[in-house]
Amino acid sequence: MRQKSVLDVIETRTGSPSLLRKKSNPIEIDRLVEIACNRFHAAIKTKPFFDILQGKVHEWHTVPRISKTKFGKYDLHIAPDIAWKKGRTWHLMRFSVQGVANLGDDKRLENMAMVIWATIQKGVPANAERYIVENVYWNRGEWKVWSERADMRLLEDASKMIKNDMRAMIDLHDRLGPSCDLSQIPLANNKQTCRNCGHRDTCPGGDDLFRAKLEQSALEMAKASKL
Ligand code: SF4
Repeated sequence: MRQKSVLDVIETRTGSPSLLRKKSNPIEIDRLVEIACNRFHAAIKTKPFFDILQGKVHEWHTVPRISKTKFGKYDLHIAPDIAWKKGRTWHLMRFSVQGVANLGDDKRLENMAMVIWATIQKGVPANAERYIVENVYWNRGEWKVWSERADMRLLEDASKMIKNDMRAMIDLHDRLGPSCDLSQIPLANNKQTCRNCGHRDTCPGGDDLFRAKLEQSALEMAKASKL
């Protein structure tokens, strides 16, 4: 499978040659540090960070992203970055520097998986309706907040989606075999699906879905003819 370098990925996204190809000069480094500082200061003026720093939130916790949650026979990374309590409601938030304004249904349900993490923790409500899930993300020059109250139906849908995804991944793993031949990975039916896919920079489908499908068919035919 073709693997793009990080610089290639940056250039594909920005549509222009990356300055990182040149030796960075101190002025450029100062400019990048200034951008990072601006984003940091903007972040701490955004809720919930602002409220936490002002002492307005009395109960809050950070959770390591790599902590695992038991979900049936699977270990999942579904913990929030920060959990805090306001009134009777618990908020579960993930922080993202590459967020999109309109979340698809799959991303909404992915966020609901944070409630699965919460409901098996000690000392917090087991009732889904007591949670609001949130994303703080950088978009068009500012930090934005997306939030949605959880309910039992959304939680059940999130559980079903995770189980289906895990089954599909295990099935795929079995199909790829010990050599993990990624050329057989099933590609999307529609290129719109690739637009918001996190693998579009490394998957041939993300570059040119039509060509990737032709290449995959040719590979499959070549394999079949050797059997
Ligand atoms: S980029 Fe690849 S993995 Fe992502 S949706 Fe498209 S075909 Fe599927």
